[in-house]
Amino acid sequence: MSAALVSHGYDESTAKILATNCVTAHRDGSESHGLFRLKDYIATIKSGYVNGSPRPKIEDVSPGLVRVDADNGFAQIALERAEDIMVAKARTSGVAVLAIRNSHHTGALYIDVERFAEKGFLAIAVVNSIAVVAPPGGNKGVYGTNPIAFAAPRASTAPLVFDLASSTMSHGDVQVAAREGRLLPEDTGIDKNGKPTGSPHAILSGGALSTFGGHKGASIALMVEILCAGLVGADFSFEVDRGKPLGATTARTGETIIVIDPNVGAKDLPPLARRVDDLVEALSEAGQGRIPGDRRIRARREAGKDVFIHEDQWTALNELAAPIKREA
Ligand code: NDP
Repeated sequence: MSAALVSHGYDESTAKILATNCVTAHRDGSESHGLFRLKDYIATIKSGYVNGSPRPKIEDVSPGLVRVDADNGFAQIALERAEDIMVAKARTSGVAVLAIRNSHHTGALYIDVERFAEKGFLAIAVVNSIAVVAPPGGNKGVYGTNPIAFAAPRASTAPLVFDLASSTMSHGDVQVAAREGRLLPEDTGIDKNGKPTGSPHAILSGGALSTFGGHKGASIALMVEILCAGLVGADFSFEVDRGKPLGATTARTGETIIVIDPNVGAKDLPPLARRVDDLVEALSEAGQGRIPGDRRIRARREAGKDVFIHEDQWTALNELAAPIKREA
């Protein structure tokens, strides 16, 4: 997959990071951001919209703040470059904020926080995108699907991680449903006239998704826009012109990640990882059968080193991997 991305113009390091992200999501059963995203990465570079060889500019602003201009590349590349400085800052200051602007992000967000929780940190990430989600009562998209991901270390097992779009579902899942010819619940989105619909085609052609939980999800979407566009100097989702240039599927938006070291100045406090275990245990005892992240970890465990893909996806991937024929 990495070779396919290189054949379409990404540099080796970018291709490797994007491929690892897609394969990780696919292996973890997060198909909406798995291997089928390859076509988006290719469409985006073919349209000239993304920088396939970005040189992110890292600005060490203060003991607790790092700003990165992603050089119109994917936010995941900026994060990879800034990860070490974030870890060092969180360990000394107790908290570090990473504010990425001028970036694209079409991946699963949990990957950006899980890596910090595996090192013992708490992490929260938010990212905005393109205007495909209508506000409550609205008749057009203003927000992105604006996910929020959270990760906390656990003493007994892998980190607790949740990762959820502030829309009724992710845009990728709507595309999957359209491809499979499935109808969605009636209040999933609106059609081009602002009427509630469960038709993925109506949502994708001129309509919009709705926010989850009405005004509650809408406030989360609002916060995400402010945190990762307003704060960092990126475009709000509604400011992204999707028609220009043709074929672009991602945007020059932003991502903000907050990393907290629970051990800084906490000598006399009980270890956070153990407290998270206590809380999860209480949830299980109270009858919660599925804890966020359970499905993903199970899928990961079952997959082992293998990544299962359907035959038609395999064929599509191979077609995309064919080297571009350049004109003489
Ligand atoms: P889901 O609704 O499938 O899941 C949201 C979270 O809730 C997950 O952490 C999931 O855990 C947990 N969960 C789901 N069902 C239950 C349940 N019954 N009980 C307890 N916990 C549960 O995710 P979304 O559709 O909202 O988002 C899917 C993906 O799309 C995310 O990875 C997100 O980052 C990505 N996305 C990316 C965007 C971008 O611009 N880059 C935009 C929007 C979304 P588990 O993982 O174990 O299932």
